[in-house]
Amino acid sequence: MPRPILATVHVPALSHNLETVAGMLSRSATVPRPSVWAVIKANAYGHGIEPAVEGFAQADGLAMLDLDEAVRCREHGWSGPLLLLEGFFEPADIEVLDHYRITTAIHCAEQLEMLEAGQVRHALDAFVKLNSGMHRLGFQPDQYRAAYRRALDLQAEGVLGAVGKMTHFARADDDPVETAGQLRVFAQVTEGLPGPVSVCNSAATLTEGLAAGVSGGEQWVRPGICLYGGSPFDERSAESMGLRPAMTLSSRLISTHTVPAGGAVGYGHCYVAERATRVGVVACGYADGYPRHAPTGTPITVEGVRTRVLGRVSMDMLVADLDPVPQARVGSPVVLWGEGGPSVDEVARPCGTIGYELLCAVAPRVPRRVQGAGAAPSSDEGP
Ligand SMILES: *Cc1c(COP(=O)(O)O)cnc(C)c1O
Repeated sequence: MPRPILATVHVPALSHNLETVAGMLSRSATVPRPSVWAVIKANAYGHGIEPAVEGFAQADGLAMLDLDEAVRCREHGWSGPLLLLEGFFEPADIEVLDHYRITTAIHCAEQLEMLEAGQVRHALDAFVKLNSGMHRLGFQPDQYRAAYRRALDLQAEGVLGAVGKMTHFARADDDPVETAGQLRVFAQVTEGLPGPVSVCNSAATLTEGLAAGVSGGEQWVRPGICLYGGSPFDERSAESMGLRPAMTLSSRLISTHTVPAGGAVGYGHCYVAERATRVGVVACGYADGYPRHAPTGTPITVEGVRTRVLGRVSMDMLVADLDPVPQARVGSPVVLWGEGGPSVDEVARPCGTIGYELLCAVAPRVPRRVQGAGAAPSSDEGP
């Protein structure tokens, strides 16, 4: 029998979250409601491209970084828009974009040069990206309009089709003033330029009124984490926003015993039992993607009862406090995060990280089960 660890991907939760986010936008935003690029980069935040294509069937488009992931969407039957958030990397990619009708971001002069030197059979749709203050990708404000003009020239030549404007926020989750500043730069720099606009990630999409304040063309929001049931905010849980976890990481106890008073648990003897403590060993460790730096106290659920991790996480195992779960025994079900357990955000916080990282880091050796929708009842998916 394989180790009992399992990552279950809930396709109906993906659909539910998309519907919830779209519902919030139609309540609070402009008429018509912004279109939604469902962001499925990084193997759909660890959930798998194919389940994401099924769960996000109602999205207006899918956005990712990796050309191979875009091609997999087409092969899985997605015929709608696809957006490469970082655009293409070399001239040969342009042919693939052309063949599969993939929309590209254009964030640097080198990409414009490659397009100017290239040839396409069908005009490619594109978003020209502005660096409005995050200082990662995008044209600087003083270079943007010239870049946009070059994109419009490419449009006139039939190399580009629709051309739009995009930018990305650095602090939409925690600093409204900073975010308003970036939005102001975006509005000033793109003033009067034709085409659709795309600025909002999850945090901005979920911020009341923010999407409604974006003008300048047809709007496309770009939510990611919230569609998987994670929260981009420290202080607002996903559950409080009506979102459902799309991934459950579960396992079982493979041993139980009592640590005597003064006994210490695991590598480094990081946890010392003050009194005799019954503990369970869980088949899940950092080689499964569970964070090694999860400290004593990190929440975990055994037999449906919330308890805590004790001592250091090892490669293949971790130890849970069974004090609140006297009925636990070998084989008892354990939820590391997801349905019936702590949220991935609750696990991430004491580890000093974010739910995004944990979801993306579930290891290839963890078997996957895709649950619901048109998905096969059980399939082993490479991540
Ligand atoms: C990852 C990403 C998003 C989605 O971010 P979330 O915080 O997961 O909503 C949107 N736009 C770009 C450019 C991204 O890289």
